Amino acid sequence: MTEVVGRFAPSPSGRMHLGNVFAALLAWLSVKSRDGAMVLRMEDLDPDRCRAEYVETLRDDLLWLGLTWDKEQTPQSLRSQAYEEAFEALRARGLIYPCYCSRTELHAASAPHAADGRVIYAGTCRSLTPAQRAEKTKAPAWRLMVPDQVWGVKDGLQGWYEENLFRDCGDFIVRRADGVYAYQLAVVVDDAAGGVTEVVRGMDLLPSTPRQLYLYDLLGLRPPEFFHVPLLLSPDGRRLSKRDRDLDLGLLRQQKKPEEILGLLACWAGILEKPEPASAQELAKIFTWQAVRTDPVVVTR
Ligand code: GLU
Repeated sequence: MTEVVGRFAPSPSGRMHLGNVFAALLAWLSVKSRDGAMVLRMEDLDPDRCRAEYVETLRDDLLWLGLTWDKEQTPQSLRSQAYEEAFEALRARGLIYPCYCSRTELHAASAPHAADGRVIYAGTCRSLTPAQRAEKTKAPAWRLMVPDQVWGVKDGLQGWYEENLFRDCGDFIVRRADGVYAYQLAVVVDDAAGGVTEVVRGMDLLPSTPRQLYLYDLLGLRPPEFFHVPLLLSPDGRRLSKRDRDLDLGLLRQQKKPEEILGLLACWAGILEKPEPASAQELAKIFTWQAVRTDPVVVTR
């Protein structure tokens, strides 16, 4: 049997909040309940949002919680060459084209936004002729052409989820105009390079999964299993974000022990009946995906 390999893939764009810890805990428990290995990878692709100071804090917060890792991958900011190889392989097959649309043009020409707020690209630049492209003066973003085909995932927690890539998503960006490779491409290249066999992450990324599976297929890579875990919501129904300072680890670490935080999260997840303090090791002994809830957790405090 192949070893189970999971991963933490945090973006160092702020301090972890309870929602991030919730997903990280479940990722760790899923792997460690089966004696697997955990990989840590900093997803620091976006130079405008990521900061070096958060990298150390992230590491320190995970270790304080007892969420250890066995290997660390090269951070995404240093992996351009690997992404470029994948990008060039797709480009050589004629699957990638330059897109010159401005944000305003995108919103004006696009079909209604998908459920997760993403704009469905209308394909404006798909059919530009070489002469029309030559006339453009600005640096283009690069899009992957998607087929009029359904791509679905049998999520280990949420069940079947599918999208018709052409209708529900449209051609998507794999490289931004400033040269930064897009998350969708980088995450596939990196999870495959890290030998990751299962991806456990927040529900907000479920709609990205059909695109990622399509990329796995095009690049001839083996996809992992996916488990999309519930989001933590504030009482007004908003998703917790790194802006919810009161629920970030900075403050929580001053008020609570790691076992208290983990016990509370495990209870919210459905793994414990009561929010009793518990270490990550103790929780790994009783963890099973069957116990984990699928609906969002409303955090009242
Ligand atoms: N880096 C992403 C985040 O911090 C997670 C991406 C993933 O798990 O695929 O939200």
